[in-house]
Amino acid sequence: MDKRGDRAKLYEVRAKSILTPSRIPGITYSLNPYVGCAFACRYCYASFMIRFKNYKETWGNFVEIKLNAPQLLEKELGKKRPGTIEMSLVCDPYQPIEKRYGLTRACLEVLLRFSTVSQYFPLSILTKSPLVLRDIGLLKRLPNVEVGFSIGTHDETIRRLFEPKAPSLQARLQALEKLKEAGIRTYALVAPVLPMDPERLASMLKDVADRVYVDCLNYPWKVKNIYMRNHLESFLTEEFCRHVKQVLTRYHKWI
Ligand code: SF4
Repeated sequence: MDKRGDRAKLYEVRAKSILTPSRIPGITYSLNPYVGCAFACRYCYASFMIRFKNYKETWGNFVEIKLNAPQLLEKELGKKRPGTIEMSLVCDPYQPIEKRYGLTRACLEVLLRFSTVSQYFPLSILTKSPLVLRDIGLLKRLPNVEVGFSIGTHDETIRRLFEPKAPSLQARLQALEKLKEAGIRTYALVAPVLPMDPERLASMLKDVADRVYVDCLNYPWKVKNIYMRNHLESFLTEEFCRHVKQVLTRYHKWI
């Protein structure tokens, strides 16, 4: 079944499984209630997923909705060996369509209902959306959870160039602050490193993120034209990314 809404074409499916083994160090499973992401960031690292889908829309213009994600999670929690869960790797779990379908929230409810088991499945949520605040009551009660925001620059003009459909930096920082105030562990993922003043970003993150991770731009060819058009080439070097890491390391111990 497919529908149109929230600018991206929507495909409702019934998935076969939901806890997908991950090869990324520190992540045992990825949990994706959706595949595809209406935030459509220009550099999106998850766009390779389009190879496994038969949809005619380009990446960022479709979202696959796994209607049975919570039911699958309930079944798989009791069967899989314990490990960390990342929500999500091939979508933003709080992209706009989550308001309508609530699958991310329903997965959190499953984790809470089965907390004697799920305590052995530490959950890390990664988003760009303040919609995560809707679930703060659930997050506070989950035994082992942290919430992170991707923030690749301090500069809203740069954010608009690379992530025009994603929430503003201010909205992300305010959400991190509210999560921290609620006693939830927080982190910032400075990835990909975009053009920025790292000193300013470090001070913006200082009081709202318990931890900060930094990762360079992995697929520069995807966004090289944006750098060229806007005379930002000097920020596209490995040296610049190393510099950002050094500065943020000075402010944040856990990188
Ligand atoms: S929010 Fe994440 S998953 Fe969504 S388009 Fe941007 S980088 Fe890709």
